[in-house]
Amino acid sequence: MKSSHLSLILLLLLPSLALAQTKPLPRIAIAGLAIESSTFSPALTDEAAFHAKYATDVFSAYPFMAADSPLRKKASWFPTIVGKSLPGGAVTRAAYESLVNKTLDSLKKHLPYDGLYFDIHGAMSVVGLDDPEGDFIVRIRKVIGNQTMISTSMDLHGNVSWRLAQNSDLITCYRMAPHEDAMQTKQRAVQNLINRIESGKGKPAYKAYISVPILLPGEKTSTRIEPGKSLYKQVAPAALQSGITDAAIWIGYAWADEPRNHAVVMVTGDDKQKVTRTAEQLARSFWNVRNQFEFVAPTGTLTECLDKAIASPKHPFYISDSGDNPTAGGAGDATWTLTQILARPEFKAANGPSLLYASIPAPELIKSAIAAGVGNHVEGFAGAAVDNRFAPPVKLSGTVESIVSGDKDAEVEAVIKVGSVHVIITQKRKPYHKEIDFTRLGLNPRTADIVVVKIGYLEPELYAMRADWLLAITPGGVDQNIERLPYKRIQRPMFPLDKDMKDPDLRAKLVPLSDK
Ligand SMILES: [Zn+2]
Repeated sequence: MKSSHLSLILLLLLPSLALAQTKPLPRIAIAGLAIESSTFSPALTDEAAFHAKYATDVFSAYPFMAADSPLRKKASWFPTIVGKSLPGGAVTRAAYESLVNKTLDSLKKHLPYDGLYFDIHGAMSVVGLDDPEGDFIVRIRKVIGNQTMISTSMDLHGNVSWRLAQNSDLITCYRMAPHEDAMQTKQRAVQNLINRIESGKGKPAYKAYISVPILLPGEKTSTRIEPGKSLYKQVAPAALQSGITDAAIWIGYAWADEPRNHAVVMVTGDDKQKVTRTAEQLARSFWNVRNQFEFVAPTGTLTECLDKAIASPKHPFYISDSGDNPTAGGAGDATWTLTQILARPEFKAANGPSLLYASIPAPELIKSAIAAGVGNHVEGFAGAAVDNRFAPPVKLSGTVESIVSGDKDAEVEAVIKVGSVHVIITQKRKPYHKEIDFTRLGLNPRTADIVVVKIGYLEPELYAMRADWLLAITPGGVDQNIERLPYKRIQRPMFPLDKDMKDPDLRAKLVPLSDK
């Protein structure tokens, strides 16, 4: 009886409900630049490195925003520019200004906006400019105003300055390193933005911010192992509490020298007490385990690592050439490690232990290899065009094993066999993270004795195939021994640089809302 009455009432009400439903979709813009760039690296990053996507091409960066996806239908979208670069050296001022100005021009065309999704990494360094992401968001605010809700998503290795926090209404970062949840995080940032707009709740009323005076290399803070694992496990449940919109812990970026480079905890939501208390709990948990962060793999000098790998019965034995890791901001062309390898007597004969070396940029040698052809002898110099601080260009004299064109980053790659070492040379620098990066060059990383990669912690595919692994503490723009970096401008005291520092003030500060 009751239910039939109800359906009758609903039927009568339907036309007016339908009317109420026709309110226009929220207008949401998308913008962002992502790079982590080391100021301890002599490399510079130009505009092309960002592979910028414009207008509707931007959607291809987000599988969750495919044309028929539920999220895509929730708003009228105004994508401007989204650029993502491999990590590298500082971005040139011209590249930064060009990309920012194009973004602002694009934003001006479709004002006003209910929301903006700001997709950044958070560790961009720009020549002569502090806190570029903070500068960028302030300039966006000047165009779109302070009413628009901005949802910022970041890498957990990004830095959160006070002005970035103030101008972001929602702010979050990855909860996994390696970043297997990158897309999930971006989707959460977009979903939260839509939820707040659709529900009429508007901007979260409180944003708690805690600066945690810890600066650690990413290779010590993997969430696969303790204490990073348990620390980051607290984040999702913290964010799910009622009265809280999101919660995040940033490790920060160790290879830039600015006051903003340190860990941060932020929690956003509408329940003031819960927001501040939760932020303080997360910050205290982080501080309490600070002494337990260790490198994700056993470490050693390069000599120690090579000695162990050669003597080991376990193969493939992986060695991370970590100081010049191009995916952390190294120039990627430092030759120190390869020079040491080629000098070892064990690898001089063609039938010595097989070692794959990935990789070294050598555009001139690529030309010589193409001229010589596969199977023929070639010689020439590789690397150290950008970072020659630790070793000069290395001479390679060997046989061309393969030449492959078409990779987005490397453009052309070749394998030169020198003694028992298969050296991958590239036109431009490229990270080697996947099995196919090797197999497409005719190399098998599963049957090699030793694989040396310019990388920090092993990416999932390489990690899965390693029989053993050592992280070599090698010199370069992202030296993992951060205690030997010449910091001048970061805040002090800072753990672990100032060993005897007192416990810091970890009380939450409430960041002013963007429209206050
Ligand atoms: Zn990261």
